[in-house]
Amino acid sequence: MAVMEIEDIFADILDRAKALDPVNTRKWFERLTAVHLDGGLLEIGCPDEATVRFLREKCKNSFTRAAQQVTGHLVTVEFNVHQREDKESRHYPVRGESEPKLHPDYTFDNFVVGPSNRLVHASCVAVSQSLANTYNPLFIYGNSGLGKTHLLHAVCCETRQRFDKAVIQLLSCEDFVNRFITAIEEGRLAGFHSQFRTVDMLVIDDVQFLRNREQSQEEFFHTFNDLYNNGKQIILSADSPPTEIPSLEQRLISRFNWGLVAKIDPPAYETRAAIVQKKAHLRGLHVSEEIAGYVARKVHANIRELEGALTAIYALSVTCGEEITLKLAQTVLEGQIESAARHISITDIIEVVTNHFGVRLGSLQSKKRSQSITMPRQICMYLARSLTRHSLEEIGGHLGGRDHTTVMHACSKIDGAKRHDPQLHATLEELTRQITQAPQP
Ligand code: ADP
Ligand code: MG
Repeated sequence: MAVMEIEDIFADILDRAKALDPVNTRKWFERLTAVHLDGGLLEIGCPDEATVRFLREKCKNSFTRAAQQVTGHLVTVEFNVHQREDKESRHYPVRGESEPKLHPDYTFDNFVVGPSNRLVHASCVAVSQSLANTYNPLFIYGNSGLGKTHLLHAVCCETRQRFDKAVIQLLSCEDFVNRFITAIEEGRLAGFHSQFRTVDMLVIDDVQFLRNREQSQEEFFHTFNDLYNNGKQIILSADSPPTEIPSLEQRLISRFNWGLVAKIDPPAYETRAAIVQKKAHLRGLHVSEEIAGYVARKVHANIRELEGALTAIYALSVTCGEEITLKLAQTVLEGQIESAARHISITDIIEVVTNHFGVRLGSLQSKKRSQSITMPRQICMYLARSLTRHSLEEIGGHLGGRDHTTVMHACSKIDGAKRHDPQLHATLEELTRQITQAPQP
């Protein structure tokens, strides 16, 4: 096929893929190239590993369907790093296991700085510019959805660009704990130690996950000491300051306090409006100041919800084939707020979830911990948290008198899992639809 022809077809495929999945559409799709299109294979060239991972995880389906619709054939889509010869492309050496899995959206450029996050942002920038020479460890904390994970990725991304040879490990604390447990089970502790104790920078997200895990705390303590004594950088995030993480050993608390402990607060109106515009820009959309302001005024809980609102507006604009106008934004958000204001009770949620999974309420309230019960129970907690105004304690009370930390853990677990698991994501959406559309008394 002639190059021009491939480029035209690829442009059509991109347009189609965007329409099929507006949520995961990004402005940087413009930088993708068709490396190969023939014989039922479309190979798409991406500027770096982070975009490859994003596309493989989130866009494989939409690109495959788009390619099939445009060409009229069955097409297999592959994403690979294929650097163009322009100045913009970043050249990273590939380091296999220690390669941090970065999200392409989570860079400093895409982070809006305001009074609520200025200190945290500045400390992250400082660390990425001079490893282990400024704040070590750097401990950032704040409520869910305020940008901690975003900043950790940004530090890693920036560090990679500045220090070509630096070995970086970035992972969630849950991942650290799971890998530790597997290493013990498989008798590979030495390998585990060398993987984490020989890096230049260790970045661990959500360390509140260490609570009540004594053996993992012990392991983490030694990892921390080794790195610290060798002048390596450590960055940690959590939902609360070190002293408030339940049952965290004193010796870890004191170490976490050795460097800088910085808090990230919920953003004020101006910052929220700027974030809406930034997120819109990232998706290649134009959203006027008036609309951004409107969204920022309507949604203030956290930034993830702000982003969700923007996505919902964009999705409706694509479906209706209309520009994003204030009226359209109002249709979406007033609708959402109205449905939230309708009284959804925990009982409604439990009913839909037990029906869906074919489990009994009694099992959800029991002490059973098999996966087939735990999962629906955690989903109930998650949905109750996002769709009602009940407190963590009240939600735990409906589900067998569980305490608020259990509910909190369930919510963050489901929230984290749904981002990597499209099927879970779809299930949650379906359940939400059933719950919010259930006939009200
Ligand atoms: P946390 O880890 O604190 O729960 P995340 O880092 O996952 O929060 O952030 C949730 C979403 O909000 C992400 O999409 C992130 O890009 C976005 N976000 C948070 N703070 C900002 C900010 N200041 N500027 C731009 N986007 C932000
Ligand atoms: Mg996070």
